[in-house]
Amino acid sequence: MHVVVVGGSLAGLRTAEALRKQGHDDRITVVGAEPRLPYDRPPLSKQLLTGKVGADATALGGADDLGVEWLLGRTASGLDLDRRRVVLAGGEQIGFDALVLATGSRARRLPLLEGWTGVHLLRTLDDALALRQALDHGSPRVLVVGAGVVGLEVASSARTLGLEVTVVELAGAPLARVVGERLAPVVAEMHREHGVDLRLGVSVEAVEGSGRVEALRLGDGSRVAADVVVVGVGAEAVTDWLEGSGVDIADGVSCDSRLRVRAGGRPLPHLVAAGDLARWDLPGLGPTRLEHWTNAVESAAAAAATLLRGDEAPAYDPVAYVWSDQHDRKIQVVGLHRPGDESEVVEGSLGDRRFVAAFGRGGRLVAGVGFGRPAKVMALRRLIAEGAPYPPEL
Ligand SMILES: Cc1cc2nc3c(=O)[nH]c(=O)nc-3n(C[C@H](O)[C@H](O)[C@H](O)COP(=O)(O)OP(=O)(O)OC[C@H]3O[C@@H](n4cnc5c(N)ncnc54)[C@H](O)[C@@H]3O)c2cc1C
Repeated sequence: MHVVVVGGSLAGLRTAEALRKQGHDDRITVVGAEPRLPYDRPPLSKQLLTGKVGADATALGGADDLGVEWLLGRTASGLDLDRRRVVLAGGEQIGFDALVLATGSRARRLPLLEGWTGVHLLRTLDDALALRQALDHGSPRVLVVGAGVVGLEVASSARTLGLEVTVVELAGAPLARVVGERLAPVVAEMHREHGVDLRLGVSVEAVEGSGRVEALRLGDGSRVAADVVVVGVGAEAVTDWLEGSGVDIADGVSCDSRLRVRAGGRPLPHLVAAGDLARWDLPGLGPTRLEHWTNAVESAAAAAATLLRGDEAPAYDPVAYVWSDQHDRKIQVVGLHRPGDESEVVEGSLGDRRFVAAFGRGGRLVAGVGFGRPAKVMALRRLIAEGAPYPPEL
C-alpha cells in the first residue's frame, strides 16, 4: 500500500512515524510545500524570537530515518479521488492507495495591512526569521494586532528584548477563547505589569506611512506609532487545494470519529486527516477542530491506526491540551470549556498568577486552566479522561 501524506510538518511527520511504528513497511511519500524537513512551530514565537535558539534547534528529528520519500518545496494543487491521484502544482500527479491530509493552517491576513513594508505574519520559520531580523534592527516600536496565543507570545518575546510593545485587540479581553472570560483579566494584568500597552475593545482603522508602515489609526481615534507590526489574528485551515475534489470542506475537512475524511457525507476508508486540518466528530462533543501541537501528534497516531486497522482502530477521543509561554508564566489548558460552564479556582490564587481553575458541566469535570502549575494541570487532564466529577479533588 503506497501511502501519500500531503503536508510535511508536525502532523505529516508524526503520521509517517506512526505508520512505521504500527507496522507499515511499504512505500510512504510526503509532499510538503515548504522547502525544508519538518520543524517545530512553538519556538518560533518564543525562543527563536528572543534569540535563545537558532533555526537549527527547531528541526523535528527523525525525518531522515523513516525510509520515507520527501517531496519538499512541492505544493499539492488538486486531488482526483476517482483515480486516486494527488496533483502537484506544475501538473505532476502522484498515485496513492491511501492518502493522509495534513496541510494544517495558515496565518489569517488583514486586507488593510497587506502590502505594507514592516508588517509581519508569523506561521513559518521564514516568517519568524524575518520578524527576528526586524526586531534586531535598532529598537523598533512593536505593534501587535490581535491578543491571541501567537500575538501575546510575540508581545512577551518583544518585551524580553526590551522593546516598546502595544497590543491592539478588537475583543474586550485577551485570550478569552483559550482561558475563558473569567480568567482573561489575569492575562491582561500580567501583560500590563510586564510593560505591554494593551488596548482592548478597539479596532484598527487605517495605516499611515508611505510604503513602510509608520503608525496605525485605531477605532477610538488614537494613533499608535510603530516600526514593526505583527498581525496575530488567528489561523485558517488550508483547504483551497481540495476545492472541487469532492472532499467535504467545512472549517477544515470533515472527518468521522476515526479521522476518516468524508466525501459527499460518506467517510472514505483510504483517506484520513490529521492535525490542524482535521475537523472530526469528537465523541460526545460533535465536530471539533483543534490548532494544538499535542493534537497534531495524537491525531497522527490515530489516523495511522485507522488506515491500517479500519474499524478496529479506536475512535479519536483525546482530552485537548494546549500551552502558551508568556512572560514568566506557562499557561496551560486541558479539555474544552464553553461559555456557561461552572468554574472555580481549585488551587493557588489568581492574585499570584499561580493557580489551577477547573471547569464543570452537568456535574462532570470538562476542562482546566493552569498558570505556572504544570504538574497539577496534567493531573487534571488525567481526571478529565477518567470522567471525574466536578469539582475535582486534586
Ligand atoms: C508561532 C506558533 C507558535 C505555536 N505555539 C504553540 C504552542 O505553544 N502550543 C501549542 O499547543 N501549539 C502551538 N502552535 C500550534 C502548532 O504548532 C500547530 O497546531 C501544529 O503546527 C499543527 O501541525 P500540522 O502539521 O497539522 O499543521 P502545520 O504545522 O500548519 O503544517 C502544515 C504543513 O503543510 C504544508 N502545506 C500546506 N498546504 C500544502 C499543499 N497544498 N501541499 C503541500 N504542503 C502543504 C504547509 O506548508 C505546512 O508545512 C503554534 C503555532 C505557531 C504558528
